[in-house]
Amino acid sequence: MNLSKSDYMLGSLCPKALWLKKHKKELLSAEADEWSASGYSVQKLARALYPDGVEVSAPIWDFKQGSEQTKKLSSKYDVLFEAVARLPWGATCRIDVLQKEGRSWNLIEIKSTTEVKAEHIEDLAFQYYVFYNAGYKIKNCYILHLNKKYKRKKKLDIQKLFVSENVTPEVVARYGEVEEQAAFLSDMQKRTQEPQLQISKKCKSCDFYDYCCVNVPPYSIWDIFPQPTADKICQKLNSYDINDLIATEYKDKRFIDIVSWQKQKIHCDKEKIREFLSQLQYPLYYLDYETIEPAIPLFENSGPYQHIPFQFSLHIQDHPNGPVEHIGFLHKEKTDPRRDLAEALVKSCGQKGSVIVYNESFEKKRNEELAGLFPDLATAILSINDRVLDQLIPFRQRALYHYLQHSSASIKKVLPAFTNISYDKLEVKNGSEAMSSYFQFMLGELSSPEEQTLFKGLEIYCGQDTFAMVKLMEVLYKFAV
Ligand code: SF4
Repeated sequence: MNLSKSDYMLGSLCPKALWLKKHKKELLSAEADEWSASGYSVQKLARALYPDGVEVSAPIWDFKQGSEQTKKLSSKYDVLFEAVARLPWGATCRIDVLQKEGRSWNLIEIKSTTEVKAEHIEDLAFQYYVFYNAGYKIKNCYILHLNKKYKRKKKLDIQKLFVSENVTPEVVARYGEVEEQAAFLSDMQKRTQEPQLQISKKCKSCDFYDYCCVNVPPYSIWDIFPQPTADKICQKLNSYDINDLIATEYKDKRFIDIVSWQKQKIHCDKEKIREFLSQLQYPLYYLDYETIEPAIPLFENSGPYQHIPFQFSLHIQDHPNGPVEHIGFLHKEKTDPRRDLAEALVKSCGQKGSVIVYNESFEKKRNEELAGLFPDLATAILSINDRVLDQLIPFRQRALYHYLQHSSASIKKVLPAFTNISYDKLEVKNGSEAMSSYFQFMLGELSSPEEQTLFKGLEIYCGQDTFAMVKLMEVLYKFAV
């Protein structure tokens, strides 16, 4: 049985997950097979740094053929893409770039992140182990990742877009551990009996969650406490149920969350709500942005993963519980949206009145970036920031808390808890869906009818977020009395 790099990485997180992948693959959710489009495009682009590179073209699943082809090609070429190594007992891996240096080889792993992460070292340490034991003399190991300091000029400069970090000492130091772990996982995945492991809060992000965690309620102790506290409490109580907690043993937010759930009651601190409402200055401008954050910068003066706002929604209200006027901006060209958006924003936000956002750090940061980019608009844009009031605060501080929020102050949880409005029926249901569809539009991957459907969906989606804030303000007024 093969032990690939992804098997090794999965098994290192949880040996049972590896066993289930090998023996009960049907349990994996459809999303588990999704691959990262941005990671793939970064890899493709990085190959331009090695113009003489030759790809090992054996089918991705055929490690035997891949390793034989790699051996042959390595005697003729100095740079191989997707080079494969395989050990007789089944350990296999595929390195992004195998580069000859003198009589040795360098292992280069391309990552779409802007820094080296611990899991990258682990990943490369396994590759080092396999290539070394397959007979390749390894000189250096590199992580090639995106350069977070890079700002694109008119043309993309691939040399400056990437940074190469030599991680050889960290990788080599892990050799003994990898050898032991690889042997353990290889043996474990061959067993016929399913391993029995204690579940923990970390299971929440596992693809086998539904299988292993049937006894964990949809809203549980895991949602109230961070790790490792959540696990310790569950072990002590031998339960995941919030109803088994003694509320008085906890303070502040946690106390409120537990009591609200146990009594199925709304918590309301009128004084705190009134304090928040007293800061409002009418007219109110409810503002929300949608952005894309391309890994590879699309526009001049932008860097990897920089947020590019392409849409805003603004609901304007002159007095409490009064009628609302809606203004929307959506950039419908395949060009940099920022200048048009910044001008429209300044024109639409007036000179006075509170600007209501939900989670101020996001909108404020975008405004600071726009001000830095367009000095002629900087004063006007920054004065909008001076008027910002964050509607998240009363919900995060539990001035008002509904037990159906399930310990979250996200607008997607708060809105349906207090109103009958939900995001479920919309064409575009969440921010990341909005981002990826708009990104496809920018790359010219949508047909004309698809573009029109997207624009319509985005206008409704973004408008819904600011309308949600209008509704939540009504809720706050109602509970303040
Ligand atoms: S849900 Fe938890 S125990 Fe089950 S495979 Fe995943 S991490 Fe392991």
